[in-house]
Order: sequence, then structure tokens, then C-alpha cells
Amino acid sequence: MACDEATAKSLIADNWNAVRQSVSETAERCGRSPDSVRVVGVTKYVDAEITDWLVEAGCHDLGENRPQLLESKFQTLDNSTIRWHQIGNLQRNKVRRLLPAEPLVHAIASERLLAALHNESLLQSRSIAGLIEINVSEEEAKTGLPIEQLEPLLVHWRDLAAASDSGLQIQGLMAMAGWGTDEAAAAKQFGKLRELRDRMESATGISLPELSMGMSGDYPAAIAEGATLVRIGTRLFQGVLPTG
Ligand SMILES: *Cc1c(COP(=O)(O)O)cnc(C)c1O
Repeated sequence: MACDEATAKSLIADNWNAVRQSVSETAERCGRSPDSVRVVGVTKYVDAEITDWLVEAGCHDLGENRPQLLESKFQTLDNSTIRWHQIGNLQRNKVRRLLPAEPLVHAIASERLLAALHNESLLQSRSIAGLIEINVSEEEAKTGLPIEQLEPLLVHWRDLAAASDSGLQIQGLMAMAGWGTDEAAAAKQFGKLRELRDRMESATGISLPELSMGMSGDYPAAIAEGATLVRIGTRLFQGVLPTG
């Protein structure tokens, strides 16, 4: 840490309040209710103790990109008020151990992972919700499902879900703007995700209310384009991390 514990705690509380307020103001400016945007505090940069300070400050949605870290924080922290979010790439062999945390899984980008989550959630009798990650920037190296594969994947999920009355619930879409994209370019990509969602809802009749998009550098643009979940890390730990 770049400062002592008491200073770090109050910085985190100040950062949280500033982010929450900025998110609410941005939503209102866009004619949206402040409650329609949830802030997922991305805690991958800090250990369980510092993560807990963010919870104390009022952030109850926590995102981790590595399932092992999510699992270990789930085991360490008081989970009664925490909603976990697995925001990064997830391998199928990590699914079984991750599910006790009942996370919202943001980055489903293959039929195999989707099926693994569905089957394991049935086996463990846990309700698991997920989002499909879309490659909106269409860069070769980017993660996420190519746009044209979304409809077949949703139809496949509907067939799986129809055969059981529980299992994986797909609730929406997720995207990351390409690296080094400026805010105007990011806004275009977020708009593309929202249009894709609207198109898919009418094509399949599947309801996709959640849009997970926007990070520390581009969340205002994401909120303007309809984000319901923004994933914010760096901004919350400003002044606390050596690099922040
Ligand atoms: C790290 C991460 C974030 C948070 O990014 P910041 O720029 O630190 O706010 C959001 N989404 C994903 C998938 C991440 O891995």
C-alpha cells in the first residue's frame, strides 16, 4: 500500500462515494434512474482485508477476474451482504469449485462453458446467473463471442433450460472496449452491444435485461448506452495502490 491503514480506509470510502455519486449523476443526465446502474467493485488488485474495507464503505457487488481469488475471498469474508461477480475468463475445470459463491458469471463465450455451468449448477442445486461476453471490437486477439454466434448460443441455452426448471439463467450481455480505445470509440462499441441485445430479444424472445459494460476509464459512455452493470476497479483504489 502507498499509505497507512486508516488513510487507506478513508480514501477507499471517499473513492466509493465519489464513484457512486458520479454513476448516479451520469444516469440521471441520461434520463435513467440511478438505481438502474449497479457498480461492481473490481477487487482483483487488492487482498481480502482491503476488499473488506470496500464492503464497509458500502460496495456489496464484488468482481474478481480469477476464479481462485474469488473462491478464496468467498471463504475469508462475511458473505451475507456480498454479491460475487466472476468477470474474467473462466475455464471449465474451475466451475465446480467456483459455484458455492453463486457468482454472476460475466464472461461466458463458448457453448462448452455454458453447458458446464448449466450442468454443474443442476448438480449442486445452485441458481447461477450468467452473461454472454461479446467481442464488439472485432479485434483478432480479443476475448468474447463473435457477434454472429450469439443467436445459435442463445437458442442452444434455451433448449438446455427447457429440459429443466433450474440451472444457468442467462440474463444479458457483457463486453469490454478494445485496449487503447478512446471514449468516443468505446461509446460506439457499447452502442453496438445494446443494439445487438435489442435485436436478439426480438429475434429469440429471450429477455436480456443486463448489460455489463464500462470500466474506470469509460463508464460514463457505457451508462449513456444503457449499461446496467459497470465494472470499476482502479478508480476505487486511487491513492491506495502504489500505481494509483
Ligand atoms: C480489471 C477489470 C475491470 C476493471 O478495470 P479498471 O480499469 O481497473 O476499472 C473490468 N472488467 C474486467 C473484465 C477486468 O478484468
